[in-house]
Amino acid sequence: MIDSARLKTVFRTIASAMDTHRDRLCALDGVIGDADHGIAMTLGYSAARDAVDALDDTCDPTALLNTAAKSFLNAVGASSGPLYATAFMRAAACVKGKPVVEDADFVAMLQAMAQGMVDRGKAAVGEKTMIDAWLPASNAARTSWDETANLCESLSAAVRAANAGMEATASMVATKGRSARLGERSLGHVDPGAASAVVAIEAMREALCC
Ligand code: ADP
Ligand code: MG
Repeated sequence: MIDSARLKTVFRTIASAMDTHRDRLCALDGVIGDADHGIAMTLGYSAARDAVDALDDTCDPTALLNTAAKSFLNAVGASSGPLYATAFMRAAACVKGKPVVEDADFVAMLQAMAQGMVDRGKAAVGEKTMIDAWLPASNAARTSWDETANLCESLSAAVRAANAGMEATASMVATKGRSARLGERSLGHVDPGAASAVVAIEAMREALCC
């Protein structure tokens, strides 16, 4: 059972992890993009953390996640801003009317987030974006949940799938986003958005399972 106080901890943990990985994410983006991805993710998650921390612990998860969406969007000018804002809004809709997030809801939220990113960015798996980590990760969480009904097992499965998806982006040619203009020259490099997806999902597991 994940109440709003624990959701705040999730945002705190992700913001701290993004800060740790900021320079690495900027460096990855420097190779095939404009070198700002670590800054975008740090700004976005710090803003979301601060905004949700200001809410009362008794607020419902939908209000908390919508607040995260709005603050993330306002803080980030890069294309990852609307993608994550949409993801958080879909997560919010997923638990509408519920006083707390049950473990099963969290798995459903991951799937809703990934689908929100797909709907917003119109990227499919194989186009060298954050979708290549988020979609397999959320699907792996679902498969594991259906087998184990254990959130930590499910989040571990999600982390493994996100990592595999991220590594696979190195052998993809970018066809969406800023790096698409590089065409074949994007080959051989990991996508920064897929790398930050791994950071976010690992931090979720750390926040909820340690
Ligand atoms: P920008 O490209 O505007 O500088 P960021 O650097 O913050 O934005 O984010 C870049 C990442 O966004 C890429 O590595 C990729 O994973 C992701 N991305 C870009 N376009 C899309 C899209 N249409 N759908 C999903 N993800 C995308
Ligand atoms: Mg960038």
